[in-house]
Amino acid sequence: MTTPHAPTPDELAVLRRRYRHERERRVRPDGAGQYRPTDAEFGYYAADPYTGQPVARDPLHDTVDVAVVGGGFGGILAGARMRQQGVGRVRIVEKGGDFGGTWYWNRYPGVHCDIESHVYLPMLDETGYVPEWKYAPGEEIRRHAMRIARKYDLYPDALFSTAVTSLTWDEASETWMVATDRGDAFHATYVVTATGTLSEPKLPGIPGIETFQGHTFHTSRWDYAYTGGAPDGGMTGLAGKRVGVVGTGATGVQAVPLLAEDAQHLYVFQRTPSSVDVRANCRTTAEDVGADHDGWARERRENFLHIVSGEGAADQDLVADGWTSSADLLEKLLPSFRRDGGGPAFEAAYEVADAAKMDELRARVEQAVTDPDTAEKLKPWYRYACKRPTFSDRYYSAFNRDNVSLVDTADTHGIERITERGVVVGGDTYELDCLIFATGFSVGASGVHSGKLPVHGRGGTQLLHRWARQGPRTLHGFTSNGFPNLIQMGSLHNASSVNFTHVLDEQAVHASALVAAAEAAFALVEPSCDAEDAWSAVLAEGAPDHEWFHAECTPGYYNREGLGRPNNASAYPHGAVAFHELLKQWREESMGEVMRAKAVPRHQPRSVDVEVLGREPVNEAAGPR
Ligand code: NDP
Repeated sequence: MTTPHAPTPDELAVLRRRYRHERERRVRPDGAGQYRPTDAEFGYYAADPYTGQPVARDPLHDTVDVAVVGGGFGGILAGARMRQQGVGRVRIVEKGGDFGGTWYWNRYPGVHCDIESHVYLPMLDETGYVPEWKYAPGEEIRRHAMRIARKYDLYPDALFSTAVTSLTWDEASETWMVATDRGDAFHATYVVTATGTLSEPKLPGIPGIETFQGHTFHTSRWDYAYTGGAPDGGMTGLAGKRVGVVGTGATGVQAVPLLAEDAQHLYVFQRTPSSVDVRANCRTTAEDVGADHDGWARERRENFLHIVSGEGAADQDLVADGWTSSADLLEKLLPSFRRDGGGPAFEAAYEVADAAKMDELRARVEQAVTDPDTAEKLKPWYRYACKRPTFSDRYYSAFNRDNVSLVDTADTHGIERITERGVVVGGDTYELDCLIFATGFSVGASGVHSGKLPVHGRGGTQLLHRWARQGPRTLHGFTSNGFPNLIQMGSLHNASSVNFTHVLDEQAVHASALVAAAEAAFALVEPSCDAEDAWSAVLAEGAPDHEWFHAECTPGYYNREGLGRPNNASAYPHGAVAFHELLKQWREESMGEVMRAKAVPRHQPRSVDVEVLGREPVNEAAGPR
């Protein structure tokens, strides 16, 4: 591989022009409006292919202590941490047929987590599980989600294949009324929303997309009944088939090598190439990862967080991978990163390091891809972290196969047209038997912040109506005035990290502490407007301005398809490590400030049997559904 070198000022000027050119040929005036959701006539793209018809059941009209909306890692961790606090009835409501969230839905071939398993998988210390691979396959991650749910007894009260349709505060009983699409209308003293950010698949609004007569699906709803095989390959159903895949983001990069092995011919429709760094996945032992003492996993993920967030010194890089080695270039990706205030000298040095890294990644393409024209098209021409970095040691070599064609669509702002028989690009038609959309998700389109799940608080006020004038109002991102006992998880006004399960776990600890404190004080959890104001001021004061950086990036969901960074996604400006410290201190010293006296006496929560919490998980394969 070419040794990366620091570019000269002239080289940097050329590079900037090239980056601008690549951005301009992709940016579209319709921005995010170019996409369409997978509902209405496209509903079949979002149907659940993994759990047949949902089991019939009667609607529920009972009362639980905590209702959790969403059964991905956020919801599971909230449930587990509630159990550790002794909370009795925790009901997780989940659209999928089981726990797992993202890992329930995304079972496409090649699916792996590209954050190291030993820091990504939560509660390894508590479950005693040690992942077998440095980067775990999706199925191992999904099974771990189920393992936590079993250990903390979250199955008996869970509602699967069920979507919450509204949350309404009932002043008379001081509980939330939770309504679902299965006719449930039950009460919960507390509600935790953990709806995730990448849960609504999206499709490109390509003219004619509805006319395609071949087989078609979205990567987050993989149709193994058609392709055959499993996430590790063996898709015999694709023998003799002409397959097209649209999209070359983190999903496309993982799926393409396996599709290439099984399709008669694979057409990869690319609009913007990803940066694809070294993966070097390998089997690991407990010894390799220092899993010889209690707390080893906590220490490892803290070490990773310190390094990728650029906060505080870490003597040792325990994970030592593509994320940690490029940590200095993640500043613009994480709005909360930066200790030194930036400035021209910092930005100049940053740009040089950025250019050297991107040169290294472009050289990687040249080395791996034999056809120079294809290699040229696969080179990423933008600054590091303009698009989400990806990692693979198999992606580029897939393009050396005779049965794989790269079809670049940048000049036409994506695919021009889809017909009954295939895909049209540059006037050429590519006839296909199967068309797969690896086109990602509507970020932030689920849950309470999109309005998809209406939340009516005190006096019937809708959360989004209350926020309409001044923008989101929270204390620490979790709670809002007028919405007692509603605890929101997610990235709004909270910490930000590439290892999001770590952030979610800290949120779950916090949510469960709020509930435990409210139970102990016989109180409601509700911040004052003054507390919200104070938190808004903290968020506004220190927020680093990365707008200019994203304005120069190629379009994508990081910069609202090139039209600017979403302004309601503000995170705590001093970094995730500092945020977690702040929460801990606040819990120790100030949590009483959000406790409001209850007006209504109510039933005592059923305390949980601590023996149950310590037991080993039961056989996973035979687990409850
Ligand atoms: P992305 O949104 O990242 O990528 C969508 C792809 O579809 C892009 O390549 C996009 O091109 C392309 N596309 C969209 N419209 C068109 C069109 N009209 N014509 C041609 N191409 C089009 O989705 P992913 O599913 O890849 O990833 C989403 C997120 O999921 C990731 O960013 C990551 O956060 C997460 N993820 C995490 C993984 C992990 O291991 N932790 C693995 C996989 C995903 P363009 O770039 O030009 O818009």
